[in-house]
Formats: sequence, structure tokens, C-alpha cells
Amino acid sequence: MLEITDLSHSYGPPDRAHRALDQVSLRVADGELVSIVGPSGCGKSTLLRCAAGLLTPAAGTVRLDGAQVDRVPDGLAVVFQDYSRSLLPWLSVRDNVALPLRHTGQSRRARRDAAGAALATVGLPDTGDRYPWQLSGGMQQRVAIARALACDPRLLLMDEPFGSVDAQTREDLEDLVLAVRRERDMTILLVTHDIDESVYVGDRVVVLTPGPGRIRADLPVTLP
Ligand code: ADP
Repeated sequence: MLEITDLSHSYGPPDRAHRALDQVSLRVADGELVSIVGPSGCGKSTLLRCAAGLLTPAAGTVRLDGAQVDRVPDGLAVVFQDYSRSLLPWLSVRDNVALPLRHTGQSRRARRDAAGAALATVGLPDTGDRYPWQLSGGMQQRVAIARALACDPRLLLMDEPFGSVDAQTREDLEDLVLAVRRERDMTILLVTHDIDESVYVGDRVVVLTPGPGRIRADLPVTLP
């Protein structure tokens, strides 16, 4: 489904370029949940941003269902690490979740229903009228996940989605991702620096080297 070939990226001016990713190639099959793990600064977010069409790589290609990704494709959603900067504080929880649906041409009623269903999926059925800042950190990240689910993506990209919550909430959210994946037919690419998490949620763990990121290992998780 997702095919990343020889992806390289550098930041900064050419004479002082900082290489973030070096010739990364990766294939993700339909329905797989792949964890990408590596130390801070190894290029995980850069890889995810290129896969999402948010960043044009210096070299290499990203293909989704065979089509080259050169902008954010349909059927793709991203959950960012920092919910406090990704949710809009002036919109209610429901309007935050429904926001990406504004461009789909659906009626207001249909968007509202889809937002309600997504909130129910993440275990927050009664929070639609509240504001993000009235919820705990873990609940806000659930809202961010609901927003990603509302447009029923085929491919969900998660960039250290549980990095900003406490340990117990993190475990709950890991289980939530596994439940959501069982319930909805989705392919998930999850970036994390937490090795336990990468094994717990992933079918496969792709290990990156310290920057510039290269693929060090690509390991199937055979544990029950
Ligand atoms: P990770 O997600 O693994 O922590 P990143 O992809 O965020 O790594 O960053 C990889 C490297 O690229 C780091 O050294 C980081 O400082 C650098 N970097 C990331 N974004 C930018 C940017 N917009 N401008 C300059 N350097 C950047």
C-alpha cells in the first residue's frame, strides 16, 4: 500500500546541510501496523512528514497505492504528538473532530454524526459540547485520534502520539489504537522512541539508526 523508496532529506542551506534521512526504503502492506522506532533526532518525524505529503523529500519517492505522493493524499490522517498545539482551543470538541470533514461536501448533520461516532470510538461519547482545554491531556489526545478517525482514513500516521501523556494513560491509548485497528480496517504507521511500545502495538518494528536515519533492522513481531 505504502512504498517509500530511497528517501533522503536534509535541512538547511546546501553548504551547511544537515542530513536527517539517508536512503530509507520501506514497504507497508494493506492492514499492517508498523512501528518506527529510533532515538530522538534520528529523522522519524521527517520520514512521517514525507509519507504524509507534508514535506517534499530532497530525494526518493513515496507512493500510496501506486500513486506518487506530492501533497497530502485523500484517505490519510495524521495524529501529532502535541495535542495542545494540534487541537483548536476556540472550537468545541465536536467541531474539532468534524473540522477535516468540512471539505468533503457532506451535510452539516452528516459531519456531526461522523464526529459523534468517532468520539464514541475513542471512549468520549459525551464530550462534544466541551472545549479541548476542559479535558485532561489523555482525553485531548483521544480527541485528536477521533479527529483523525472521523474522515475514515485508510492510512493513519501517528507521530509519537503518546509522548505527552503519563505512563498509565499511555498504556490505555496503546490499547485504544489496537482496538480501533480491529474495529476499522486501517493501515497504521506509528513513530515512537519507546521500544516496548513499538513491540506491543506493532506487527513489525522498523529500527532507525541515530541521525541521519537509515534502516538498521526490520523485524516482524512474533510474540503473541
Ligand atoms: P525525530 O522525529 O526522530 O526526533 P526529526 O525528524 O524531528 O527526528 O529530526 C531529524 C533531524 O533533523 C534532527 O537533527 C532535527 O534537529 C533536524 N530537523 C528537523 N526538522 C528541522 C527543520 N525544520 N529545520 C532544520 N532541522 C530540522
